[in-house]
Amino acid sequence: MKIAIIGVGTVGSAIATAVQKTGLVREIVLFDTDGIRARAAAEDLGHASAFSYDIKITAVSTYRAIKGSEIVIIAAGANQRIGETRMDLLNKNAAVIEDIVPRVMANVDNKNVKLIIVTNPLDVMVMLAQKLSKLPTSRVIGTGTMLDSARLKIILSRQLNVSTRSITSYVLGEHGDSSVVNWSTICIGGIGIDDFCKQAKISMPQTTRKTIEHRVKNAAYEIIKGRGATWDGIGAAVVDLLYAIVNDEKRILTTSIVSGTGKDAVAMSMPRIVGANGVIMNLQPKMDTNEKNALRKSAKIIRKNFDSI
Ligand code: NAD
Repeated sequence: MKIAIIGVGTVGSAIATAVQKTGLVREIVLFDTDGIRARAAAEDLGHASAFSYDIKITAVSTYRAIKGSEIVIIAAGANQRIGETRMDLLNKNAAVIEDIVPRVMANVDNKNVKLIIVTNPLDVMVMLAQKLSKLPTSRVIGTGTMLDSARLKIILSRQLNVSTRSITSYVLGEHGDSSVVNWSTICIGGIGIDDFCKQAKISMPQTTRKTIEHRVKNAAYEIIKGRGATWDGIGAAVVDLLYAIVNDEKRILTTSIVSGTGKDAVAMSMPRIVGANGVIMNLQPKMDTNEKNALRKSAKIIRKNFDSI
């Protein structure tokens, strides 16, 4: 399979590196308006290939060269500076998506291609990319809260002293400040979190839950303070999504796609089944009243920002 990555900055190259290490695809083409950066990334990754999988990695200077790509990953655009929110990137990155998507669509096979959106503010960029591409909503997929769900899982794993692989935990809504921890569906080895805590004699009061929510929401801000940007987590999230698509795994992932119609249409993360054709089913998880209200609020924030472009 051939895939393309548009935007080969910190995140685009981390994605390319992570994908290259899986041997999941045969060819990766890299495009960036900064051609020197893209060529350097392709060269460096090409050398890495000599130690692992024989994958063809090339930097390209025109969109014509992405022809034949079955998946196009968009990771171009400004990232957050210290103190900036993802929504602060809205207008800058809307212009980037408006530049990229028509060019991508003019050069790929519309019947098969899937777009993976990584650029922030994620959910609004998914809405914009879907509108510009005119692709079915199921094939314009944002990584959404996959990363937030992973962050929640890691925190719970440390708190409850149990492997992440035995935890199911979802963050819903915006990949951003209004994200919602779906406490109602958290399961540890098939046991609800309240019951698990009782059995394990672990106290999980409301204050601890609030702290966990805060840590999930602020994880990126903390990483940006220390490293200037985030890249490893999102590289791994994109690989997880690629596995689900390339191997038709039908995994449940908290991805962001547009759902609803007209003025009610919005992209946000919900658990969705992902396979070769993109998202094949949207799920409605159990939510308590607080979670439902928070999710409605999150959807409104995303929609309002989309309408403001
Ligand atoms: P970066 O500044 O390192 O790289 C951005 C790259 O985009 C640059 O190389 C730039 O030349 C390129 N670019 C800009 N406009 C372009 C265009 N019109 N066409 C092609 N290339 C273009 O930034 P980064 O740290 O790699 O972040 C990229 C994006 O990913 C940001 O929006 C960031 O917020 C987002 N991000 C998302 C997640 C997530 O979970 N979804 C996680 C981390 C970062």
